[in-house]
Amino acid sequence: MEVANGGLRVAVVGSGPSAFYTAEALFKTAPNVRVDLFDRLPVPFGLVRGGVAPDHQKIKGVVKVYDEIAENPGFRFFGNVMIGRDLQVADLVAHYHQIVYAYGCESDTKLGAPGEDLRGVHSATEFVGWYNGHPDHRHRTFDLAKATRVALVGNGNVAMDVARVLLAAPDHLESTDIADYALPVLRQSRVREVVLLGRRGPAQAAFSPKEIEEIAELSGVDVVVRSADAQLDPLSAAWLEKAAARSQKRNVKFLQERAAHGEGSNGKKLRCRFLVGPTALLGDAGRVSAVRVQHMTLVADTDGTPRPKALDSFEDLPADLVFKAIGYRGIPLPGVPFDDRKGIVPNTDGRVLDKVGGTPLVGHYVAGWCKRGPTGLIGTNSLDAKATVEAMTQDRAAGRLLANGGGDVAETLAARSVDAVTWEDWQRLDAWELAEGQKRGKLRHKLSAIDEMMKVVRELRGATVAR
Ligand code: NAP
Repeated sequence: MEVANGGLRVAVVGSGPSAFYTAEALFKTAPNVRVDLFDRLPVPFGLVRGGVAPDHQKIKGVVKVYDEIAENPGFRFFGNVMIGRDLQVADLVAHYHQIVYAYGCESDTKLGAPGEDLRGVHSATEFVGWYNGHPDHRHRTFDLAKATRVALVGNGNVAMDVARVLLAAPDHLESTDIADYALPVLRQSRVREVVLLGRRGPAQAAFSPKEIEEIAELSGVDVVVRSADAQLDPLSAAWLEKAAARSQKRNVKFLQERAAHGEGSNGKKLRCRFLVGPTALLGDAGRVSAVRVQHMTLVADTDGTPRPKALDSFEDLPADLVFKAIGYRGIPLPGVPFDDRKGIVPNTDGRVLDKVGGTPLVGHYVAGWCKRGPTGLIGTNSLDAKATVEAMTQDRAAGRLLANGGGDVAETLAARSVDAVTWEDWQRLDAWELAEGQKRGKLRHKLSAIDEMMKVVRELRGATVAR
């Protein structure tokens, strides 16, 4: 099938890093392409806005790159448009030659342990979304005023963000773009101790060296590691020598130094425990009071990677609150195949399969976390998107495209009275949030409710028309 005169039309579902990198790769490789990004929220940038911690503004600076991508004349943004509600996949099929699903992983992995539904047990996804003003999580409550000890399950970089926000002095966040409602709650927090629970050993800790070191540098906080926890078993020692990355060696060195340093004299502690797997959350009158952990040992799997194996001994660790930071998880999009076991869209090299282990669907692609699972840093999505766009280019050359019956999706949305947020609307809202932030001595006054965002978008549109 040939692309007619109007040029190639591509729909991208999502507007986070992988969506923007997909658009960028398309602009570089496909002449005369129009790329439309759809987001169910009125605002773009996915986890860069709703996930990256407010004290990590340097990481958030990546949006400058996305702003430049959006300057391409072939770029359009359709915010406040939900696929499955305002538009169906069948509508995208009718309007586009190729569709890329880049909608990330919006849910969290469940522990599957008894007691997970006790009060005081939260996922990191909820807490991160809450302090970042994500519309899905703005109403959540965290009883930080009554908690002194928090158990944090998992030791990846999301766990580091949660630990840092819980332990740092709230003043540290005052001038950032943290959600307005979060700061008073953090100020009332009585949390003194965060106990980090890793099911493997120090050599397999999932955090980046920079992230754990940043916590050790916080004023008033000690990172504490017991000598027994810092010691390497023979399997990990050999693995660290032969197969581990530089970052893992640096983590082990850091953790062993902390073990030698002892308890420290600061009032707040991040205690790193290793080789402990939570098996149950214990409660008192419906509220979590402890985490039962099972001690682990490490055994090599078929490729030599050390994996946890449960021992026959347990320990109950008292905790007033529990946060699970054991990974994000994708959710299905109506009309799009889904691999429920992996929590991703089934695909081969970015080509969506009609079912798990099935055959590629013509015109449907996937990029980012919903393609490969929730791993890697923001930049990882650039290479990932390029690979998907490469598959799209090959398929175009072979004539494997959707029919694209013509017509503009903007007209379809207008006919359905969907108030889509354009890129110009977002730019005005962005400028408004920054200006309102400045008035409050903050980087940004982030709106967190969809109706509030839409109210301001409409007011700013009116102001532009009147001018
Ligand atoms: P992650 O890096 O995959 O870490 C997940 C952690 O949960 C691991 O420690 C894992 O242990 C543990 N875990 C998984 N299932 C478990 C279970 N059933 N019981 C106990 N522990 C369990 O995931 P993440 O922290 O959600 O981060 C996602 C991605 O975003 C990562 O690539 C991360 O680097 C990135 N990120 C980066 C930053 C930053 O650069 N500042 C910030 C946030 C996120 P095992 O290792 O044993 O599986």
